[in-house]
Amino acid sequence: MPYVITEACTRDMACVAVCPTECIYDIQTQLVIDPEECIDCGSCEAECTEDAIFEEDEVPEEHKGAIEKNKAAFEGDDKPPLAVAAE
Ligand code: SF4
Repeated sequence: MPYVITEACTRDMACVAVCPTECIYDIQTQLVIDPEECIDCGSCEAECTEDAIFEEDEVPEEHKGAIEKNKAAFEGDDKPPLAVAAE
């Protein structure tokens, strides 16, 4: 069950620094998680200052669209760019 980043993301990159598999990508409006690469460790959720990250089955009703949005970002031929951890 992958983790999902919702629209509450402010792209402060705190999650990126702790992700062991580098599966957090940047679509400019927010960060997204590749559901195929996520190993469900939960490190990003603990680090998020905006409470924007949830395990897929715990995404609040008002943010359910984020599940599809995270998946859709990886359906084309080209992946979005990897998010870069803040210095
Ligand atoms: Fe990365 Fe772990 Fe978050 Fe998945 S749950 S995006 S592997 S930090």
